[in-house]
Amino acid sequence: METNYILEMRHISKSFPGVKALDDVTLCVRPGTVHSLMGENGAGKSTLMNCLFGIYSKDSGEIILDGEKVNFHSPSEALNNRVSMVHQELNQVPNQTVMENLWLGRFPLKYKLIDEKRIYEKTKEIFDDLEIDIDPKMKVGSLKVSQKQMIEIAKAVSYDSKIIVMDEPTSSLTEREVEHIFQIINKLVNKGSSIIYISHKMEEILRISNDVTVMRDGKWISTNPARELTTDNIIQKMVGRELKDRYPKRNAKVGKVMLEVKNLSSAAPCFKNVSFELHSGEIIGIAGWLEQSEPKYWKSYLALEKKEREKLL
Ligand code: ADP
Ligand code: MG
Repeated sequence: METNYILEMRHISKSFPGVKALDDVTLCVRPGTVHSLMGENGAGKSTLMNCLFGIYSKDSGEIILDGEKVNFHSPSEALNNRVSMVHQELNQVPNQTVMENLWLGRFPLKYKLIDEKRIYEKTKEIFDDLEIDIDPKMKVGSLKVSQKQMIEIAKAVSYDSKIIVMDEPTSSLTEREVEHIFQIINKLVNKGSSIIYISHKMEEILRISNDVTVMRDGKWISTNPARELTTDNIIQKMVGRELKDRYPKRNAKVGKVMLEVKNLSSAAPCFKNVSFELHSGEIIGIAGWLEQSEPKYWKSYLALEKKEREKLL
């Protein structure tokens, strides 16, 4: 048996009423590597990670961390044993500060009081190392999703984690934010941590992973070194059949104009002079670079769009 794994999850099964979410799944992670976990929605990726992190309890199978059998019953037990998870849904307390969120439940105390200066310094130290440019005294509620995610990663670092699970960390980030996460991943791996990375973005996966495990319908399908895989291979394993046309031929008949938008501008600085025509049977793509994702922008944009749409139709 191989012994040079930092984490072995062997023969893990887990059922929910009416669903066998995990059926004899095995995932073995080498130290200091990025191991991607892939599969379509509902394949069981998050459930497997939740079993590791003590959110769900597995029905059967065993988990071996650094040579020792473990079975965490809560996330705090997992964290204290140097296993962290950056969730898809971030559950931070919005009206607390960044540094309070980071050290929640384990504040360094001074004369039984929270030692603000000390937690500020400890937070700053981690942020500087990861090049995270966030004021530790800011309220978490006022941060962008990407910043909240950075705090979660910083938290994983603060626990000196050996295993950091990232469940679709880049799904709502800009290209620049994704690059930053990749730099951080690189740094953590160089320090000896292992990352379990869940994403649907093939190019990302092939770029940053050492190993790739594919799951389908709650089952383990394959584990391969990333360099032996192509995007087409992975998709084939994920869907379970050969895909001849990744983008099916377009054969819809494009007809008359159904919607015409002319020189549309918004009051808030969101868009200016936008014009397009939409024909029947046609699909148009709208592409752009999301530089700012302040909620206030989106609120005004959505409100305006509704009004403009009413005017148009
Ligand atoms: P993935 O993360 O790969 O998209 P999940 O692990 O979230 O997949 O889900 C795997 C299966 O388990 C799905 O069929 C999902 O509906 C089911 N499932 C996950 N969590 C629960 C739960 N708490 N209760 C019932 N069913 C669940
Ligand atoms: Mg999931």
